[in-house]
This record gives sequence, structure tokens and C-alpha cells, in this order.
Amino acid sequence: MSLLTHLECARCRRAFDPHLPQTYCPDCQAPLLPRYDLQKGRAEVDRERLACRPRGMWRWRELMPVFDERHIVSLGEGDTPLLHARHLGERVGAQVYIKDEAVNPTGTFKARGLSAAVSKARELGQRRLIIPTAGNAGGALAAYAARGGMQAAVFMPADTPWPNRYECQIAGAQVTLVDGLISDAGRLVAERVQQEDWFSVSTFKEPYRVEGKKTMGYELAQAFGWRLPDVILYPTGGGTGLVGMWKAFAELEALGWLEDTTRPRMVAVQAAGCAPVVQAFHRGAARCDFWEGAQTMASGLRVPKSFADMEILSALRESEGTAVAVSDEEIAAAQRELAAAEGVFAAPEGAATLAGLKKLLAAGWIRADERVVLFNTGSGLKYIPPPATGEQV
Ligand SMILES: *Cc1c(COP(=O)(O)O)cnc(C)c1O
Repeated sequence: MSLLTHLECARCRRAFDPHLPQTYCPDCQAPLLPRYDLQKGRAEVDRERLACRPRGMWRWRELMPVFDERHIVSLGEGDTPLLHARHLGERVGAQVYIKDEAVNPTGTFKARGLSAAVSKARELGQRRLIIPTAGNAGGALAAYAARGGMQAAVFMPADTPWPNRYECQIAGAQVTLVDGLISDAGRLVAERVQQEDWFSVSTFKEPYRVEGKKTMGYELAQAFGWRLPDVILYPTGGGTGLVGMWKAFAELEALGWLEDTTRPRMVAVQAAGCAPVVQAFHRGAARCDFWEGAQTMASGLRVPKSFADMEILSALRESEGTAVAVSDEEIAAAQRELAAAEGVFAAPEGAATLAGLKKLLAAGWIRADERVVLFNTGSGLKYIPPPATGEQV
């Protein structure tokens, strides 16, 4: 079933064995990307046959990294709706679509990445998984580890939205609250991995989460009749989805599945209080600087530096895309507008893409006739503050 052949360093192209647990390239300190026999896929895999399988991310299994499907750990992730947002489109003056990832298990698109990573870990015999998280990845790991009969340990900032802590604990994960950001949680996880037998599924330091996220690119292509939209706005933290979709488009082209190989312009949207990608992009830099004092209500975007910063920046540039920062006030206003105009109660990260769209329309960077996809990466319900003691709920 899976056409996976090897893993490849994103920078030096060295090959790694996918039958062994792998992390990242030790020479380049860079992500490993799964590679498939796409020639064989082109000859033997029919895109319409995959489209007819039961719904969900694993219907793309030839292009997914698990060799034996009995190892797949699934909660029904993927095949999320692509909503044509007509009211919003009329209001802002563009052809707007919302890819609504809020309907995934655990309420965010982190489900896709963790379903892939947990499944592959299970296939490789790993049973103890650990993660540093800004919140939602921890919740997804906890759920998929429980579903796979595995142990999970989650390190998250102490000020992560409370539903994230709760969802981890209820699924039986060990939760450690960290005084600091995801980068500090990452350091503690690296120490713990040295001392105890845990396998880290930290963003891009583990090769398979990106494979779950790339399926968003396949779904978009299918939904648009095997053509791609003109612009994709993606709220960027670690950049898994952005790098993953860019990889997906190259794979679809190699498979010969696209009616038109014109690629979308990829846009990274970040919060003004943590915008390392925006800064590096506009400076023309190949890498991001660590963003000091990261602060935003969009907790998933509180990532001071991504391990895949080079891959994010090169996807933006190859696609002739851009990067834009929006304030928390603009995010909050966009969140209300999305809910009132389209009934989508978006996570602040998802709402940030609408705020970004407005800026790019105002700047003339997006034209009114272009098809634009906003990624709502999670449900706004996961960000509701706890009721104050004594308050009526
Ligand atoms: C993690 C997260 C993001 C950022 O995703 P990356 O692929 O890591 O850039 C955006 N939105 C939400 C809701 C998240 O949980």
C-alpha cells in the first residue's frame, strides 16, 4: 500500500531508513521529509479511486507513511469542509473559501499530524511519546496516544488556554506546565528524552506529522476539481501545514493528477506579537531570528522560531507568496466577523487569516477575482476563558 521509499534531509538530501525510528538530520539540524515512489504512483494509483474510499485522511494511504494499515490510529480526521464564504466574499471583495479544520477530532488540524505521527510510531514499536506544545498539539497527542494504547507526556506553557490542559489530562497524558514558551518546553523535553525512554514528536524534529498536514493540500486540489486556488492564507507557527501543502502540490504534480499545475501563492499570517517569519521574509533572510518576548492571544502562533524556518521561507518565495502580521485587536474583530457573517466560530489563529486577507486586498496584492482559501485551523470553543468563580454559566 504505502509507496514510501525513504526519508530525505530537507537541506543536504541525505537519505534515511523509514523502517527505523528517525528524528532529524544530525548534520544539518534540519527536518527529514518522507519521499515516495511517485513514478509507480503515477502508473498504478488512480485519483478517482482514492476519492471513492471512506472519508478521512487515510484514504490517501499510498501517499502516507504507514506500511501496514493495522497500525493506523485514527479518530476520523480529515476531509473537512471547504466552505464558499459568499457573505464574507461580498463584504471584502474577493472569492473567499474557508477550509474549516475546526471539525477535526480534538477541534483542530493538529489531529492530522498527530494521527500520522502516532500511527508511524506505533508501527515502529514506540509506546511512549512526548511533546512540547503551544497547546493543541498536546491535546491531539493525548487523544491519539490513548486511542493507540500508548503513553503520552505533554509539556506546555503554564498560560496555555485551559481546555488544552484539560483535554490532555482527561485522556490520561502526563502534563507538565512550563514557566515560559514552547521553546522552553522544547528544552525540557530534550532533557527528558536524554534521561528516560521517550520518543519526541516535536514539530519537524519528527518526520511524519507533516505528512498528516499535507493531506490538506490533497483535499484542496480535489475540491477545486484538481486545480489549485490562487492564494492560500495560512496561520503560521511551526509551519507544518504550509510546508506540508507545498510538498503535497509537488507530489500531485509528479503523480500527474493536476489538470493545471499552476501553484497557489502561499501566505504566512502571523501575530504582530510573534512574527519571526514575517520579519525574515521582508528582510530577504534565509532563516528566522528567535523572536524575543512572544505574546499573542493566538496561542498556536506563539512560536518564537520554527525548526523548519528555511523550508517555510523557501515555500513562500518559490510560490511568489508573502508574509503578513496582524494585531490581536484585528484578530478579535475578524473572529467576530467570521462568526457573524458565516457562522464559523474560528480559533484566533484561523481568524488571523481574515485579518491578513483584508490587508492584502487593501494593498492590491490580492485581486477581487482570485480564489482565496483561508485556513481556520481550529475551533474558537477551545479558547473560551474559564468562568470566574461564582459566575453563572
Ligand atoms: C499549531 C496551530 C497553528 C500553527 O500551525 P503550524 O502548522 O505549526 O504552523 C495554527 N492554528 C492552530 C489552531 C494551531 O493549533
